[in-house]
Amino acid sequence: MSDSKPIMTTTAGNPIADNQNSLSAGPRGPLLMQDYQLLEKLAHQNRERVPERTVHAKGSAAFGQLTITHDITRYSKAAIFSEIGKETECLLRFSTVAGEQGAADAERDVRGWALKFYTDEGNWDMVGNNTPVFFVRDPLKFPDFIHTQKRHPRTNLRSATAMWDFWSLSPESLHQVTILMSDRGIPKSYRHTNGYGSHTYSFINAEGERFWVKFHFKTRQGIETIRNEDAEALIGKDRESHQRDLYENIEAGNCPKWDFKIQVMPELDAEKYHINPFDLTKVWPHSDYPLIDVGVLELNRNPENYFAEVEQSAFSPSNIVPGIGFSPDKMLQARIFSYADAHRYRIGTWYEALPVNRPKSAVNHYHKDGQMHFMNPRSSDAYYEPNSMNGAVQDERYAEPPLKISGDADRYNHREGNDDYTQAGNLFRLMSDCQKQQLFGNIAAAMDGVPEPIVERQLAHFEKADPAYAAGVREALATVCEPVTAQ
Ligand code: NDP
Repeated sequence: MSDSKPIMTTTAGNPIADNQNSLSAGPRGPLLMQDYQLLEKLAHQNRERVPERTVHAKGSAAFGQLTITHDITRYSKAAIFSEIGKETECLLRFSTVAGEQGAADAERDVRGWALKFYTDEGNWDMVGNNTPVFFVRDPLKFPDFIHTQKRHPRTNLRSATAMWDFWSLSPESLHQVTILMSDRGIPKSYRHTNGYGSHTYSFINAEGERFWVKFHFKTRQGIETIRNEDAEALIGKDRESHQRDLYENIEAGNCPKWDFKIQVMPELDAEKYHINPFDLTKVWPHSDYPLIDVGVLELNRNPENYFAEVEQSAFSPSNIVPGIGFSPDKMLQARIFSYADAHRYRIGTWYEALPVNRPKSAVNHYHKDGQMHFMNPRSSDAYYEPNSMNGAVQDERYAEPPLKISGDADRYNHREGNDDYTQAGNLFRLMSDCQKQQLFGNIAAAMDGVPEPIVERQLAHFEKADPAYAAGVREALATVCEPVTAQ
């Protein structure tokens, strides 16, 4: 009897009389094939997992909103920035990069910062990190880099040798390696990290002018970090420390906030600026392009269902809105393809129609059929385009101004003449003595067991960034570990 409780059913809605006992031939006999309720239950269990993300598999997310506090309409006509006080709902998914879904949170790693803004003109996704730069600048090296972060094919262990071998052969990684090995490499929690869009994007204003833009989210909780030894102790007790911190603080009404700021570069500056503004391994120094206030981001609602709203959440830098556009950043160009493609593989063709990914604004397109097409589309004679059946049409008001591009198609050596050392050195030089000591110790610990020629190759990069950087690491190596001779 169910009293006032709902009656349990199969997925087809057929009432279930007994959910405790399988259907068997006699009390000790085998089960019957016709016990469809049992078969359905086991079949569903077999399908409870979707493939975890190849990178950023372990994540935590919360909903909230962005509130605009400053007028930036001279740079962008995007509806999200249209007036001071405007609020836009958003979802922010934090993650580690390398670990699998069951990995511990308090590991030394970059943190993913994936944002989805449900704007009046479709979803705007910003898929950034807690660092303003990245390890590689050419997407042809991205899968290689990720393979060094994952498990060795024979040992099935993470390989410090692979990581330092790749980094030492890829000097463009030095800036990001310096951040990763600094005190900020293990944040105390997600709440205590800054977020960066990292890539250069573009803004387009109502007059059709283009600007290049970088996005920054500065934590109001303050930057707080933990040291290797404290992280080891913490992981021994709690593998989900970041998930727990985020969830429990939001449940308790202690809602984390970030100040949203931008750096803006007029379109034509890009041609003469001494740094390639589309190089993901470089920042734009604040003295050249100061931070401009935009708004406040607050997280204040936990997901109701982790799988439906976090695991199935899908972020892609291809999701842009009128007034915000791409840039020639090669890494961004590749991610425009690869992120959406990853979701089609991982979740399915119609992943954008799932409730957590579905835009709040109207969606009108002519894509058709395919697995799990649960959008319940209205029957219409306008199922192709162009049509004379009152179907959705394009609107030239949303066209971007043309982007001037020149040059011969070729494979250009992105390492030739590129300064991979100044900005890494600048970061080193702004660290306090205490931070420098942590950096040296963290690098020495991370190099434990790495063959000497690889260590020496990497030390040469530290030397070029700042001789004191190399000297500090060399000293820490002498006390922490004995480099292994090459075999
Ligand atoms: P500024 O002195 O104006 O800015 C320094 C920046 O460094 C601040 O944003 C600060 O962030 C950040 N920072 C301090 N310690 C660390 C750390 N261990 N890991 C990562 N970031 C840190 O100088 P510049 O703009 O000329 O930049 C100098 C260097 O600072 C750069 O080469 C880059 O490595 C780093 N940086 C620069 C950023 C930029 O967009 N210009 C952004 C982030 C880092 P906070 O205010 O939160 O303490």
